[in-house]
Amino acid sequence: MKRAIIIRYAELFLKKKNRGYFETIFENNIKKALEGLTFELHKNSGRYIIDGFDEYDVEEMVERLKKVFGLHTLSVAYITTTDLDGMLEAALLVCPDSGTFKVESHRGDKRYPMTSVEISRVLGGKILSVRHDLKVDVHNPDRTVCVDVREGGTALVFGEYIEGANGMPVGTAGKGLLLISGGIDSPVAGHMIAKRGMRVETLHFHSYPYTNDQAKDKVIDLAKILSQYTGVSKLHTVSVTHIQEEIHEKCKPELMITLLRRFMFRIAERHALRIGAQCLITGESLGQVASQTIEGMTSSNSVVEKLPILRPLVGFDKNEIIDRAVKIGTYETSILPYEDCCTVFLPEFPAIRPKLKDILAEEAKLDVEGLIKEAFASLEKIEF
Ligand code: ATP
Ligand code: MG
Repeated sequence: MKRAIIIRYAELFLKKKNRGYFETIFENNIKKALEGLTFELHKNSGRYIIDGFDEYDVEEMVERLKKVFGLHTLSVAYITTTDLDGMLEAALLVCPDSGTFKVESHRGDKRYPMTSVEISRVLGGKILSVRHDLKVDVHNPDRTVCVDVREGGTALVFGEYIEGANGMPVGTAGKGLLLISGGIDSPVAGHMIAKRGMRVETLHFHSYPYTNDQAKDKVIDLAKILSQYTGVSKLHTVSVTHIQEEIHEKCKPELMITLLRRFMFRIAERHALRIGAQCLITGESLGQVASQTIEGMTSSNSVVEKLPILRPLVGFDKNEIIDRAVKIGTYETSILPYEDCCTVFLPEFPAIRPKLKDILAEEAKLDVEGLIKEAFASLEKIEF
C-alpha cells in the first residue's frame, strides 16, 4: 500500500501576519532537507503532505525531516480508498500487536456519507471482527488509529505521531556566525540558535601545522552534522598560527588564551560583517574554564564593536550540554582526541581574572592590525 508523510508545523501559527513568509521558508527547508530524493510536497489545510516517494526512502526521509526546525510532529500514513474495505485494510496495518486501540476520524471531505463519529464506530467494529485479540479503550488506548478522509476519494490512515525538532524555520530570524571549535560546546550552541530560526554560518580557527588534518576533518564533520539542521553546507577557516607564535614569543604566558581570544573575536566580527551576519555565537558557559569567567567574557566583548555575542550555553552545566550533544549527534565526533588551536601553546596557569590594563599592555607589544590582516589572507571556504 502506498504511503504518505504528514507534516504538522510548530510555532508558525503564532505569526499570523507573516504566515505566508514563514511557510515559504519552511517549505524550502523541507525540500532542501529531502534533496536527492524523489517526492511531492503538498500544502493541505494547515499542514503538509508528502507523497510520490519511493517506499524504500521512508526511513531516510523521516530521519531527515526530524531535523527540520519548525516541524512539530510527523506521521507516516497509508494512502487508501475511502470505502470501508480500503480503510479497514490500512487500519489493520497500524493496529497495535496486542492490547487496546481506538479509532479517531477526521473528515476533510464534508460530502462523505458518514460523519467522523460514524466512521470511527463502524471501522472500530470492523477491526474487532478481524482482530479478536484487541479491545477498544476510548480513554487510554495503546494506539489510536487515525483516519483522515480527504477530498478526491483517498484516505490517510496512521497510528503514530513522531516528534519533530520544533523551533522556528531556519532563515526566519536573520543570520549569525558561530565560532566553531572541535569541542563539545560550540556545535550545541549553534544548534540552539538555529532552532530559533537563525541561519548559522560557521568559522573555525586552526593552528596548522601545529594542528593536523585530522583536527580539521573533525571540525568539517561537526559542521556537516550541524548542516543537517541549518542547511548551511560550508565552513570558513582562518589560521591563527602566527598570532599564537607572536603572543607566545612576546607576551606573558598566563594571558595567552585571553589575548588569542581577543584576536578570534576581532576576526570573527569582521568576517561576520562581510558575510552579512548579525551576531556572533559561541559555546561559552560561565565558569567552565579559566577563560570563561565574566572577566574573560568582558575582555572578549570589549573588542567586538558592532555585533551582539550570543552565548546560549552560558547557564548550562557540562552534563546538560553533553546530553544535548548526544541528542543532536555531534558528541561522538566532538570527543575525538585531535587538538584544536586552543590547546597549542596552552599555558600551565592561565589568568582567571585578566585585568584590562594588563591585557592592553601585552597587546601593545603586538602588531594587532597586521596580524589580523595576515590571518584573513588564510581565509578558506570549505563547501561540502
Ligand atoms: P568547545 O567545546 O565549544 O570547544 P570549550 O569548552 O572547549 O568549548 P573554549 O575552548 O574556551 O571552550 O572555547 C569557548 C568558545 O570559543 C567555543 O565554544 C567556541 O565558540 C569558541 N572557540 C574556541 N576555540 C575555537 C576555534 N578554534 N575556532 C573557533 N571558535 C573557537
Ligand atoms: Mg574548545
